[in-house]
Amino acid sequence: MPQLGFGVWQVPDDEAVKAVATALEAGYRSIDTAAVYANERGTGQALAASGIPREELFVTTKLWNSDQGHDAALHAFDTSLDRLGLDYVDLYLIHWPLPAKDTYVDTYRALEKILSEGRAKAIGVSNFLPEHLERLVAETSVVPAVNQIELHPQLAQAEARALHARLGVATEAWSPLGQGRGLLDVPALVAVARKHDRTPAQVVLRWHLQLGNVVIPKSVTPSRIRENIEVFDFELDAEDVAALAALDEGRRLGPDPAEFHVGA
Ligand code: NAD
Repeated sequence: MPQLGFGVWQVPDDEAVKAVATALEAGYRSIDTAAVYANERGTGQALAASGIPREELFVTTKLWNSDQGHDAALHAFDTSLDRLGLDYVDLYLIHWPLPAKDTYVDTYRALEKILSEGRAKAIGVSNFLPEHLERLVAETSVVPAVNQIELHPQLAQAEARALHARLGVATEAWSPLGQGRGLLDVPALVAVARKHDRTPAQVVLRWHLQLGNVVIPKSVTPSRIRENIEVFDFELDAEDVAALAALDEGRRLGPDPAEFHVGA
């Protein structure tokens, strides 16, 4: 899995065609979509039009909350593949755990079946808290390849990252730039960016890469799409990393996975 990919949340289907095409031209090969983003069709169109061989692409999509349950998940997966126009996805994720509904174990067994059929090359979860992940690992046979969680310098998720490392689950950071809200103007971050003659967004993405996170920054602005992938030719030193570590407030921008039940 490429450590840096392109996220398309909140990009309308028709705009996704253009944004994904721009990302592929800029060199991204991994795209993160979801059934609920309502842009699997546009994403698939851009992938097909690019002419890039399928095996060089890494496509992730996610099962929406209303489709949890074993049989519903199998059906939802077929629908996603159809909209993407693909024979397989590289990674299929359960979007949210919905603990009060208590269907994620059953749902994950459907993902194991999809994996065994080769229609997803890897399966995993998103927004799973440590207790959900521990239970899943205890009750099913395939360790999730990935847990995609909200993670940025203001929510560094040390506990989750340590658990993932122990279980052999890759940590994938959603909203890696803190949704561009506030974080990118924080003076300590701006100072590190100046020191390296880089942008704050590039410094944040570099911080993720050095921590070992997979990142999927989103933008529909071509110059930013390109900027966000130009992060493999510089390195943060210990002092920079310490300056970013000091920004951790343990504050979520998104919902608490223990409570979130939209669509369930
Ligand atoms: P992000 O942290 O990637 O921030 C995106 C926003 O930051 C952009 O809309 C823009 O306003 C700004 N931005 C982007 N590049 C910039 C740059 N170079 N300079 C200045 N500003 C810049 O936020 P996101 O879209 O929430 O998260 C990224 C991806 O993560 C999503 O597109 C989606 O694929 C995924 N995601 C998953 C979940 C989940 O529940 N699994 C939830 C949210 C997002």
